[in-house]
Amino acid sequence: MSTLVLARKYRPRDFDSLVGQPHVVQALANALTQQRLHHAYLFTGTRGVGKTTISRILAKSLNCTGVDGTGGITAHPCGTCNACREIDAGRYIDYVELDAASNRGVDEITQLLDQSVYKPVTGRFKVYMIDEVHMLSNHAFNAMLKSLEEPPDYLKFVLATTDPQKVPPTVLSRCLQFNLRPLAPQTMHEHLVSVLVQERIDAAAPALQLIARAARGSMRDALSLTDQAIAHGAGAIDEAGVRQMLGAVDRGHAVRLVEALAARDGASVVAAIDQLRELGLSAAGTLEEMAALLQQMAVLQVVPEAVDADDPDAAAQVRLSTLLAPDETQLLYSIVLHGRAELALAPDEYSGLVMVLLRLLAFPSTKADKSPSASHAEVPPPRTASTAARPAVSAAAVSTPIRSATSRRPVSPIDDRRPTERPAGTHADRHGASPTPAVELDPSGETDRPSTSQTTVASMASEPPPWIDAPEASSSRPASGERPDVAVEAASARIIDAAPLGLDSQRLGDRWTETVRRMIDAGSIGALVRELALQAECVAIDTAATPMVWRLRVERETLRAASHCDKLQAALAEAVGRPVRIETEVGIAVDSPALREAAERARRLAEAEQTIENDPLVRALMSQYKTARIVPGSVKSL
Ligand SMILES: [Zn+2]
Repeated sequence: MSTLVLARKYRPRDFDSLVGQPHVVQALANALTQQRLHHAYLFTGTRGVGKTTISRILAKSLNCTGVDGTGGITAHPCGTCNACREIDAGRYIDYVELDAASNRGVDEITQLLDQSVYKPVTGRFKVYMIDEVHMLSNHAFNAMLKSLEEPPDYLKFVLATTDPQKVPPTVLSRCLQFNLRPLAPQTMHEHLVSVLVQERIDAAAPALQLIARAARGSMRDALSLTDQAIAHGAGAIDEAGVRQMLGAVDRGHAVRLVEALAARDGASVVAAIDQLRELGLSAAGTLEEMAALLQQMAVLQVVPEAVDADDPDAAAQVRLSTLLAPDETQLLYSIVLHGRAELALAPDEYSGLVMVLLRLLAFPSTKADKSPSASHAEVPPPRTASTAARPAVSAAAVSTPIRSATSRRPVSPIDDRRPTERPAGTHADRHGASPTPAVELDPSGETDRPSTSQTTVASMASEPPPWIDAPEASSSRPASGERPDVAVEAASARIIDAAPLGLDSQRLGDRWTETVRRMIDAGSIGALVRELALQAECVAIDTAATPMVWRLRVERETLRAASHCDKLQAALAEAVGRPVRIETEVGIAVDSPALREAAERARRLAEAEQTIENDPLVRALMSQYKTARIVPGSVKSL
């Protein structure tokens, strides 16, 4: 295979030329020099970090006879003796490499171990290298264990695995373990430069940087990608070609997006994404580039002198690192990382990208004092007007209409759907009667706002995601001077119905169902936890408690396992944007998301069956064929 040419050609043949893993090299070299040899070594680490390479060098070190044939065990194998040459060529009789991923059966291992009773044919040591050792069957492990317990002097084991967790402890405890680390992009970059100099191939530094990043710590992958880049670029490696080959997005787009977000310029964000769409550049790739950029910005914000002068993007990183506050950088990084999972759920990946990136603008800026363009949240900068005209709107534009609309018309969207069941006044009445955390935390709110409007802000809560309300916290209390977390606490108390345990069961059910759907859409809960969420009825939400308490009623004891509850609690905290505690009780759930789904399905099915029965064609058929009937259950709603 031509793609392995460089990786094979430049496989290090001694410890001195090995790239990376200095801690492993040091320990092995010392052991060899001092002849303190262990009989079994375990190398762990992801693919392509050098496990097989180190094993071969170790085998040579143990068996090298030196240039003149009189050498002994050495940390510097000569590379010219018979043992060194044959191990390099992969045909040394006393060095056996076995890939457990393809030789899983107990047979191969027992065969190998049977042969281990014979002394080495030509060398000092027999060295058995078993790669992906975690793939061995239990029988094979047991067979090997005997040899590991009482190994003959001449037998050495080198075990390698990408998944040490799956290696039985009885085996682990008999091995000297070395953890091989993924290589740093800079280390790989340097090695690629030296390889290409030897190959006399022109390569642009930014192109190699891209390859080094894409290889994710695997030198073998980096060299394979370099092979591909040479083929792709017809002998030379340039940045544009490598970007195209990797499907990578030009870092310039990521820079422009971060710039627009730092300036809170929603219009430019949308325009930049339109441009990505026109160029056909991947939305996921854009988020990846942005994550890498934000990570470097975050480092520069903490360690300004950590500038990598060789990085073609260094200047942009330095500039951007001053435009965003460190906490905003962290927030955007988190939004960008988690946003990747959302892209697949969006109607199309670019509209998904718009939503993910505009999310930052839904949070109040913490950099208001430093950036003249980002004025206070309550007084939106002039460009917000143009932003609001676009389909995607900024946070300020979203939150203002909600507030004004609700104060005019004190009915929640949920109430709108069931006007007869839910007269508008009921919440307000109950609300006015109970002391609320919002009032305690924000005494001014009671006097300058009618209680109905406060209630309806609360009852809106089950609709918008938690971040929509966040700007309100700062805009309604701009000069309070309180710690920001207190302001957020106050806002959150108002997000939920302000009266602890005060939501009626219908609205608790609405809120729980909507929240569960959001967690499922975000992919934040796995199968069993999802089952718990869907089967549970929310019987109370206590916003006054710290952290706030969600009380769930579950029928099946098995679903209440602490591990499920912990995971659900973490996902819920993320969904509502504040710490929560989940309490569960055993009982029959009468209003769970699952029951609501079942009811909805039954309703749609009945509707579909009705439609079918009323269909003129079906009616004609039925009257024509007297025995024709609609098979019960065969109608499916779409
Ligand atoms: Zn040698």
